[in-house]
Amino acid sequence: MFCTQCPRNCGVDRENGLGYCLSNDVPRISRAALHFWEEPCISGTAGSGAVFFSGCNLRCVYCQNHEISSGGAGIQMSDDDIMRAFDRLIEQGAHNINLVTPTHFSDSVVRILEKYKSPVPIVYNCGGYESVDSIKRLEGLVDIYLPDFKYADNKLAAAYSKAPDYFERASEAVLEMSRQVGKLVLDENGIAKSGLIVRHLVLPGAVSNTKKVLRWIKDYLPQGTIVSLMSQYTPCVSDLESPLDRRISKYEYEIAVNEMMNLGFENGYIQGRRSAQKDFVPDFNALEGLL
Ligand code: SF4
Repeated sequence: MFCTQCPRNCGVDRENGLGYCLSNDVPRISRAALHFWEEPCISGTAGSGAVFFSGCNLRCVYCQNHEISSGGAGIQMSDDDIMRAFDRLIEQGAHNINLVTPTHFSDSVVRILEKYKSPVPIVYNCGGYESVDSIKRLEGLVDIYLPDFKYADNKLAAAYSKAPDYFERASEAVLEMSRQVGKLVLDENGIAKSGLIVRHLVLPGAVSNTKKVLRWIKDYLPQGTIVSLMSQYTPCVSDLESPLDRRISKYEYEIAVNEMMNLGFENGYIQGRRSAQKDFVPDFNALEGLL
């Protein structure tokens, strides 16, 4: 089958070759473990059952998970193996099953979720560069969408992620996600049950991009949509050129937070500066005991 699972539309036969995402058609999983560094309503007190897919359809030059985005880390797992990993995470108390960077395996995800009846919410935690057709196929299977909205400025998208149509594709995809699951709903303990949270990572030297993303969310998504404005950018890749070779400044993040307030967002998540540390990048070697 020729792959059109994401907007790259590589058209490669993934049984016999690799597309831009550097992945064949069998999911490769680099980490499946309780994860405590998502938004509080996702991680809660017991942790989110995070399953990290290797490879990526964006492969941003500054990727903080570059060990997995290049596709090499982890092991290939069958549908049954993945469902067993879900079971183990739920036995360990996970508040949800959190599919991290699943876009390039969306066909596999649909097939698995049509079989797996999860007692906890399913989170689709993706980079935002999504095919609307793939997102439509997830309707009724995903409870919580947690997309990045990285760029409104397609020059940045082209330079950093080789995705010159990122803004158009992410806009369409996030609107479809919002249509499917609506606004965030929490249980009595403050844990997410369903809905949409849009993430945006503030990049160094790119506050105007952040402002445009926030403006788009305000103008096009329903009032009350939750935004998670992240300050955690850390240069994790060697040889990054300026301005990506530094963390964001306190001043840049303040401008971003002020913009959020000026636009009238009433609820959302902001991060402390301590989040911009390599300690928050997980170890991608945590599959033991889950198979
Ligand atoms: S999922 Fe991978 S192979 Fe398929 S279109 Fe996207 S980048 Fe290309």
